[in-house]
Amino acid sequence: MGDDELTGESIAIVGAGFGGLSAAAHLGAAGADVTVYERHDHVGGVAGRIEGEGFRFDAGPSWYLMPEVFERFFGAFDREPGDFYELVRLDPNYRVFWDDGDRADVPADPAAAAELFESYEPGAGEALETYLADAKEAYEIGMERFVVPKRSRFRECLSLDVALSARGLSLIGTMDDHVADHFGHPKLRQLVQYTLVFLGGSPYNTPALYKLMSHVDYGLGVYYPIGGIAEVVDAMATVAVDQGARIETNAEVSAITPTADGLEVTVGDGRSVHDRVVSNASPAYTERELLPKGAVDRSADYWEERTYGPSAFMLYLGVEGDVDPLEHHTLVLPTDWGPHFESIFEEPRWPENPAYYVNVPSRTDPTVAPDGCETVVVLVPIAPGLEDGPDRREAFRDRILEGLAAETGVDLEGRIRFEEHTCVSDYADGFGKPQGTALGLAHTLRQTGPLRPSHRAPGLDRLYYVGGDTGPGIGMPMCLLSGEHVTQAIEADVAGGPLDRLLAQ
Ligand SMILES: Cc1cc2nc3c(=O)[nH]c(=O)nc-3n(C[C@H](O)[C@H](O)[C@H](O)COP(=O)(O)OP(=O)(O)OC[C@H]3O[C@@H](n4cnc5c(N)ncnc54)[C@H](O)[C@@H]3O)c2cc1C
Repeated sequence: MGDDELTGESIAIVGAGFGGLSAAAHLGAAGADVTVYERHDHVGGVAGRIEGEGFRFDAGPSWYLMPEVFERFFGAFDREPGDFYELVRLDPNYRVFWDDGDRADVPADPAAAAELFESYEPGAGEALETYLADAKEAYEIGMERFVVPKRSRFRECLSLDVALSARGLSLIGTMDDHVADHFGHPKLRQLVQYTLVFLGGSPYNTPALYKLMSHVDYGLGVYYPIGGIAEVVDAMATVAVDQGARIETNAEVSAITPTADGLEVTVGDGRSVHDRVVSNASPAYTERELLPKGAVDRSADYWEERTYGPSAFMLYLGVEGDVDPLEHHTLVLPTDWGPHFESIFEEPRWPENPAYYVNVPSRTDPTVAPDGCETVVVLVPIAPGLEDGPDRREAFRDRILEGLAAETGVDLEGRIRFEEHTCVSDYADGFGKPQGTALGLAHTLRQTGPLRPSHRAPGLDRLYYVGGDTGPGIGMPMCLLSGEHVTQAIEADVAGGPLDRLLAQ
């Protein structure tokens, strides 16, 4: 991306999530006149902050993975993460409690992780080393070919055969089949598959190439920014403003209307016309709620037929006293998690015996809880579209707290000083997420790589998408890169002739 290639272009961005803020910084650096409209009173999107009674919670993401991508983002503006926040590498990566009473720490050091695997199954230590070597190769090929330098959809298709011929990438078969080839013990299979939930998928519907995720946690490490993910969001907003972007909060866009002069954006009673609009709101919501009918070449059925990643039942708990033995990241897993995934993707229902995740950032960072207290966040992945009225939430909350006490020995009842929850309808109403998915379009085979919705809205020039529902996909690092990709697409459209545009399709 060169400087000033977009001088004179007025660009509106709808939404200040990770993708919107990244796009704002990159487009601003390229010389565009950027205005970000965010409906909430804060930036960050699902990565917001909840505060009360001296506790501070990250509302959404809590695993800071792929630190190199954050370095790349800040580096593009001659900054580095350390200018804004202190990063700590966690060890263990996480702790697991199974419902049969067993527990394990997955260490940051891969050699120690191999020992842990060996202790469950003879030969599994070596199998892990082989698996991680393959995962590393898949990660490097995947990043180089599909993720970091934007390859247009056209070029991606041309290069797909080359990429697949490389050892390590496979679109054939699911993660479940692939992992079963390496590990016999069901618990070991879980330990290398749990990261699929980050992609909004399950072992049964995610292609085997996503073994690369094991390199992300075992190889690259799990980090935490002191102060929480909100520090990263604040840093991104600072960088975007430094690059000249204006960020307006409490500014809900109610319509995007094509006109002869560009795209008109309606916010409250105000209207402004921009050369281009980048929507960080989900493309499904943008096309169904903000654009006039028929404005894009995509049928309404398209969005009905997609596979959406899980929604989440989130509990934010400010707790008095300690919560030993919970770690910074703790997974509580049934030994058979098949029925839980089935309740998300096959037969949507509230799970009876859920797998869930508990985050206690105050274990690492005392600034997020008052003295003698802990900040606890529980995330239970659940099916999008579920009814989540107050009675249902209350009953499920009680079920989870009872399970936590039984499975980890940590009884929180009677010492909760702050409590909030978020569920399906909050993601739908607050963020425009289709069916209330928390994560967006799952990375199933037909929603991966070039098959994900493009950065360019089909059939409507000058409208673009950025964020987790477009390329490269779900997660903070991917959304950071998405802002870079959409900027490249806009630069190609502004500068390019017809051939560039064809290649950029
Ligand atoms: C509970 C949870 C846990 C997660 N855990 C992790 C994790 O540990 N690690 C990780 O890397 N990723 C994690 N993720 C995924 C990651 O957080 C997301 O992929 C990423 O933050 C999504 O960013 P986005 O750019 O798609 O925008 P979003 O966060 O979806 O933001 C879109 C923005 O658009 C705004 N908007 C929508 N409509 C309008 C409108 N009409 N007018 C104005 N503004 C509008 C919304 O208010 C919002 O601010 C998690 C997600 C969730 C929900």
